Amino acid sequence: MRVSDKPTIKRIPCPHCGHITRIRKTREYSRAYREITCQCLNEKCGCTFVASVEPVRILVPSAIPDPTVHIPLSEHINVKQLALSLNEPKKRA
Ligand SMILES: [Zn+2]
Repeated sequence: MRVSDKPTIKRIPCPHCGHITRIRKTREYSRAYREITCQCLNEKCGCTFVASVEPVRILVPSAIPDPTVHIPLSEHINVKQLALSLNEPKKRA
């Protein structure tokens, strides 16, 4: 699997007209919570709003977890299998 270095940013649509918005400002309250100020690019609308960005569940656990970050694991993760794989010695490529 190839992983791109470029982040993919999906724009948040305007809640009133559905047009694309531009992120004007971000404010990080913690590593797991930030607020972004979005401005609608529809000149007939002009709505500006604040949206929150917060991870709600982990799909693939981090290989370098921060012990101060507490985000629930997704229900699809088999906890027993995860524990076994974390305890396996790393295979050399
Ligand atoms: Zn709008």
